[in-house]
Amino acid sequence: MRKSKKYIIIFLATFLAFSVIPEKVEARHLDFLDEIKFPVDNIKSHFYDDWKERRGGGSRLHEGLDVRAPKGAKIVAVAEGIINTVAFSESSGYYIAIDHMNGWLSLYVHLNDDVIGDDNAGGSAAAFAKEYKRGDRVQRGEVIGFVGNSGNAERTVPHLHFELKYLGNSQDVYEYILKAWNSYEKSKLFPKNTMSLLIY
Ligand SMILES: [Zn+2]
Repeated sequence: MRKSKKYIIIFLATFLAFSVIPEKVEARHLDFLDEIKFPVDNIKSHFYDDWKERRGGGSRLHEGLDVRAPKGAKIVAVAEGIINTVAFSESSGYYIAIDHMNGWLSLYVHLNDDVIGDDNAGGSAAAFAKEYKRGDRVQRGEVIGFVGNSGNAERTVPHLHFELKYLGNSQDVYEYILKAWNSYEKSKLFPKNTMSLLIY
């Protein structure tokens, strides 16, 4: 009898430790991801689940999602937040990061650096929607930059390398981006004011 009671206590303690507490954290993750906006405002966007795909001849694993879109397509903030980084590096090219103040950080990489007729001559003005600085507030859906292929993506088709980090670690969020894309597509194809246009 005493032995079985002991097992029940162990079972309950394990149940509490592994289900109740992590579920709360998990719910917070999901709330944010459920409401993210698709990061590119262009119906011609294309992507597939390329999380952890082998890149660089197999030397590294891809952490993020590549969204192919026409050069210059608008990149939008997936949620509100504050600018964490606006920078250029040889590998990432022009990139911008938004801190969503809840543990999540969104990262937008390989922004445009070209102008018509002159590859790479665009500079930061061709990459970002305005001269952002660290600490600037951005709204969900605000245009922050433009699709391109700067950095080590120079020889690839224009695409946005998009990443969502939770507490500094990149997460596999393909399902949520797919969901955001599905709702984006619907709103573009069937705008809310279609009916009023038909009545006139
Ligand atoms: Zn990528």
